[in-house]
Amino acid sequence: MNCNEARPLLQACADGEIGAADGVRLKRHLEDCNSCVSALRELRTLRKAVRQGAGYHRASPALRARVLAALPATEPVVADVEPVADAGWRRWFTWSPALNATMAAVTVAAVGLGLTTYAMRESPADLTAQAVVASHVRALLSTREIDVASSDRHTVKPWFNGRIDYAPEVRDLAGQGFPLVGGRLDYVDGRRVAVLVYRRAQHPLEVFVLPDKGDGGPRSLQGYEMESWTARGMRYWAVTDASAEDLRAFVAAWKRADS
Ligand SMILES: [Zn+2]
Repeated sequence: MNCNEARPLLQACADGEIGAADGVRLKRHLEDCNSCVSALRELRTLRKAVRQGAGYHRASPALRARVLAALPATEPVVADVEPVADAGWRRWFTWSPALNATMAAVTVAAVGLGLTTYAMRESPADLTAQAVVASHVRALLSTREIDVASSDRHTVKPWFNGRIDYAPEVRDLAGQGFPLVGGRLDYVDGRRVAVLVYRRAQHPLEVFVLPDKGDGGPRSLQGYEMESWTARGMRYWAVTDASAEDLRAFVAAWKRADS
């Protein structure tokens, strides 16, 4: 094997997906080719950086529980496929059969998970949560984010009069670090709903106020933190790209504040 033949195999090797025959031939080449060894090392480093640095979204505990409940009972899949330390490229070959088996198991699990998720019925609360996030994102993208811009709740609350068939509570949380920015109308679950717009530092934080419907609870969806609660016949959905901690602080402040 020469370098031209070796190069295309390096990626497969770095991913632990090289076949046994190619593995033997590549290994022989790497014994006396420093340039391919360092190319392989770079691929490994890149792969590691992607694994560690790439953005990901954590499944909510509720979704996780439902996915796990829907999966058939199996041996736990070993998810950590990184070698403990870089003890030279030979190591990548010595654990590659085990890695291959692990990768196969992970792939099967991922495919199973995808199908299971696809087949799972979503609860009404999940659908509302998705609608709330979609509405929040739409508002962030649009130039008309706020219909009534005011930090005064005595301006924002009456603005909704006649525009929806209920009067949302608007609370002043500026003292707790969540200044009111204004309000807007949006459509969620096929009806017009009140949306109160607050801010945490540079992060918009919106509260959707709907007539009570379904269950709620905290969750993360598409990178947004959400919390839902009910009070006096209304359901509240708070959504933000600020941290889950900030959102918890907001909800606690909301519940303590006067209306
Ligand atoms: Zn080479």
